Amino acid sequence: MNPWSNPSPWLLAGAVVAPGLVALSTWGLVTRWRRRRFRRFFQILWDRKLRPHCPRCRHLLGDWQMREGLKFERQGDQLERIPIRFGAFFCATCAKPVRLIDEDGFEMTHEQALERLREPTVHS
Ligand SMILES: [Zn+2]
Repeated sequence: MNPWSNPSPWLLAGAVVAPGLVALSTWGLVTRWRRRRFRRFFQILWDRKLRPHCPRCRHLLGDWQMREGLKFERQGDQLERIPIRFGAFFCATCAKPVRLIDEDGFEMTHEQALERLREPTVHS
């Protein structure tokens, strides 16, 4: 007997819900896989191929270069503006420079970060 010739409401409900559940769990797996794709080192995110991603919007970062900036430092009663140069990526989506900072709070370059990430100890 073909159940579809006289489908019970439960069968109909199942036919509607089951693909939905499958879609939901697939979506869940994909998002979990996406999250696991990134590892956080030096205050930014890295994918498996060690490409840098923005910690805020997760977009791929590029354009590493030295940039000019200003640092504010207190000199007695006054705030002095001191020009500094720093290396950073630039996230076009956030419109912000994204710097690499190591565990001790020191800036590092893209090459230094890649060297550290390729050391087996960092991943353990
Ligand atoms: Zn961003």
